[in-house]
Amino acid sequence: MELTHGTYHVQGISFAELAQHYGTPLYVYDGEKIVQQLNNLKNAFSENDIKIKYAAKALTNLSILRLLKKHGSGVDVVSINEAHIALRAGFTPEEIMYTPNCVDFSEIEEGVALGVMVNLDNLSVLEKFGKKYGAAKACCIRLNPHIMAGGNYKISTGHGNSKFGISVYQLPQIMQLVEQYQMNVEGLHIHTGSEITETDVFLKMAEILFGVARDFPHLRFIDFGSGYKVAYKEGDLVTNVFDLGLKLGRAFKEFYHQYGKKLQLWIEPGKYLVSEAGYLLTRANVVKTTPSVTFVGVDSGLNHLIRPMMYDAYHEIVNVTNPTGSQKVYTVVGMICETDTLGADRKLNEVREGDLVVIKNAGAYGFSMASHYNSRPRPAEVLLLNGSHQLIRQRDTLDDILRGQVEADV
Ligand SMILES: *Cc1c(COP(=O)(O)O)cnc(C)c1O
Repeated sequence: MELTHGTYHVQGISFAELAQHYGTPLYVYDGEKIVQQLNNLKNAFSENDIKIKYAAKALTNLSILRLLKKHGSGVDVVSINEAHIALRAGFTPEEIMYTPNCVDFSEIEEGVALGVMVNLDNLSVLEKFGKKYGAAKACCIRLNPHIMAGGNYKISTGHGNSKFGISVYQLPQIMQLVEQYQMNVEGLHIHTGSEITETDVFLKMAEILFGVARDFPHLRFIDFGSGYKVAYKEGDLVTNVFDLGLKLGRAFKEFYHQYGKKLQLWIEPGKYLVSEAGYLLTRANVVKTTPSVTFVGVDSGLNHLIRPMMYDAYHEIVNVTNPTGSQKVYTVVGMICETDTLGADRKLNEVREGDLVVIKNAGAYGFSMASHYNSRPRPAEVLLLNGSHQLIRQRDTLDDILRGQVEADV
């Protein structure tokens, strides 16, 4: 977002105009930024046959999926419903990678019936798949490389105690099943969590994967998952995707030359594509001064953006109504009956009741993790594209909150 002539705006559209048009709280997505991020990745990996599979769980809106599809992205889904949503958004089954964890085998059968690539992440599942489909259906295997990577334990999925993937130490058991059932393993996959900033960590994982890949003669692709970190505040360490694209791309080429066949390089960015494009636009309902803290209570909370409370995530907060006001220290909280701090001890331009307050980096794991807690509606969502705004999801109503409830005879 930019500040010109005293007004904060995105693509020339001011937050004040959006608030007036749609009300608050409101999720606002900058479509141009999403496309720009996608193009960054395409350019970074341009030396390879790159397939970008957008991790749909980060932001699962049909219009966002359509936008990404239009610009050449595929999609990674983690539930059968996400697979159905991706199909509805216009992705072909071939463009969909399905990476479930601990689901009932019937969900995997349904994925196969839909024609999507299924990523298997447990020995028992691999065995069921082999028994049922043999060589008739291709599959991918998710490996756990046993690397502790990423921001913190909660978001790391590749360490030894993680529930994700089949351990690389169980390779003999994997090979035994693959041979026994003549399985057609077209891909190997690794995704070790979120917020990895060092290229070397990715390269180390790649080396482990290449070591394993030599034993699989039918590969078509290797999927390196994601974990790309973006900046949540100025000076933050981020994943340098250009450095990564260059070095991982080079290592990958070297690998497939030895392997003897050109392979596709897949990646599954979620946060990288949509985080910075998203803004949660809220209004300050109250300013509450206590002897020790001044709170700003906005018309949102952990029901709409759970990342600060769940992951200690830092989201920058800006008072967009009073950009020249003198700076004061505030703790920004929501209106949920629960401690729902959105940002503690933040310097903001003086906040008056009624001011618009924007929470940045809200595109990824914002709306998609939102709930009806406290019987509050989830926000509306708006997409900004080519300098105009479009509603892409209506604000929930009381009926939406009550949907599905059946009144018992009591
Ligand atoms: C969540 C997830 C991703 C996306 O991770 P980001 O950190 O948002 O980029 C990719 N692949 C799989 C299998 C995932 O579960």
